Formats: sequence, structure tokens, C-alpha cells
Amino acid sequence: MNEGYHARGLDYVYLAFKVEEKDVGKAVEAIRALGMAGANVTIPFKSKVIPFLDAIEESAKAIGAVNTIVNKKGKLVGYNTDCLGAMAALQEAGVNTRAKKAVVIGAGGASRAVCYALLKQKTRVVVFDRENGKASSLALEMRRKTGESISNYLMNNENLEWEISDADVLVNATPVGMWPKQEATPVPPGVLRKELAVFDLVYKPRFTKLLKTAKQKGCKTIFGESMLFYQGIAGFELITGKKAPLKQMKKALLKVLR
Ligand code: NAP
Repeated sequence: MNEGYHARGLDYVYLAFKVEEKDVGKAVEAIRALGMAGANVTIPFKSKVIPFLDAIEESAKAIGAVNTIVNKKGKLVGYNTDCLGAMAALQEAGVNTRAKKAVVIGAGGASRAVCYALLKQKTRVVVFDRENGKASSLALEMRRKTGESISNYLMNNENLEWEISDADVLVNATPVGMWPKQEATPVPPGVLRKELAVFDLVYKPRFTKLLKTAKQKGCKTIFGESMLFYQGIAGFELITGKKAPLKQMKKALLKVLR
């Protein structure tokens, strides 16, 4: 962020604060008290900040998580830029999901953001989790909030094979394959077909085992790094009200990740 502010000549500074769970409310109040322009929020407080905000934007409300807070003249408004980042990453890769079918693996916070983004594109979503409870409540809630088509299955090879066989997009929204356990993959390699676009939310390593296998099979691949980049860009623009300098911010992100 600081590289972006510098490139735009903005008198802003991006700082990290470690906050204890008992102090979440006080930390949010400090944004207002100190006249901060805004803040980013990360796990495990993306849902916990919600009761302390003055307003929540529609997508953040539906997802149930806020990762960006904007101070609008003392009124604190919560946004979720993960869903914007996911859509921008798909768009950048030339993947149009409108009226297509997507299989999403995992039913945590990132999955909620991606499912919401896909449903808003009228994508038919099937969400998998190893514990049926989480995926089914995600599907139920998203169906109610968006009125779009989303179903859920328990994660096993048979269900995965069946649902992926006619899907257009596969999304890994679990930490499987993330450094330092890079050799793991969330789905058996046999389910990948060249017609499938494969999107891995894991951003370290850039080329996960899943994406490497997908590439070998001729699939289009979408990097978690790209979603991370665009969710940051959306946050920059929401907080500063200025266009983000893409080139400089990409360079800065790659320096941190590589
Ligand atoms: P989360 O809330 O903890 O959810 C993780 C989900 O993955 C849960 O459904 C969990 O199931 C499932 N899971 C975990 N380990 C698994 C395994 N070994 N096999 C099958 N399922 C497993 O985490 P999150 O915040 O959604 O993040 C998920 C991943 O997305 C992380 O790697 C994170 O770094 C990445 N992410 C990327 C971006 C980006 O911008 N690229 C943004 C956000 C997150 P259980 O509930 O059963 O544990």
C-alpha cells in the first residue's frame, strides 16, 4: 500500500496493528477517534468487527465478513473486497462465469466471498466441504440472500468426480497446497479436464500442485496471487477515493511474495 500512496503522491501511511480479541471494539473506535482514513481487517476478526461499524455494504453483509473499513466523515462503513478481488482475477484470466457451473472446495471465509461473487454472476455453484454442516449452512444462507442456485456436497472422490465432470470452473478455497505443505492437492488429479478453468486461492506458492497439474492437463489457470492483488487494489481505491497505481502496487506485492 505504501508504494501505492507514494506513487500517487498521497499523504497516507499503511501500518499494521496487532489487536487482541477483547479490544476489537476499541480498535474500531480508534479509527474514528484518530481520524484514520480506513483500515483493513484480517482473520480472525473479519466478522467480529461488524457489530462496531455504522453501516455494512451489501456484499459484506451477505458474506458476513468485512476486510475493509472506510471512515466516511466519522461514519465507519464495512466492505468485503475479497469478492471483488476474486471476480477481477477471473476477468483478468478471461474466464466468464455467467450462467456457467462452478465447483468450490472449502466452506470457510474465502469460500463465502467467492461463492457470493459467483452467484452475483448467475453462476451455478456447488460447494464442497469435508464436514457437511459448514457447506450446507453456507449454501442455505447464500441461496436465501441471493436467490441464486447453490448446492452442497460432502467431499469424497465420488462426489467430486461427478460434480466436476460437467463444471466449467473449479475453485480451491481451502489452504490445501499452501506453503509449507506444497505437495498436497484438494482434488484427485484425475478429475481435471482441459475444458475446466482452475482457480486456486492459495497464493504461496504461486504455482500450487493443483495449478501445476491443471496446466499440464491444458486447463486455464487463475492464481490466488491475482485475487490478493485485486482485493488490495479495491481496498486502496475505497479508502483513498483515488485510482490505484497498478504497476507499482503489483511490483511491491511480488517483492513481498517471492
Ligand atoms: P478458513 O475460513 O479456515 O476455511 C478453510 C476451509 O478449508 C474450511 O472449509 C476447511 O474445512 C477447509 N479445509 C481446511 N483444511 C482442509 C483439508 N485438509 N482438506 C479439506 N478441506 C480443508 O480459511 P479461509 O480464510 O477461507 O482461507 C482459505 C484459503 O484461501 C487459505 O489458503 C487462504 O490463504 C486463501 N485466501 C486467499 C485469498 C486471496 O486473496 N488469494 C483471500 C482469502 C483467503 P474445515 O472447516 O473442516 O476445517
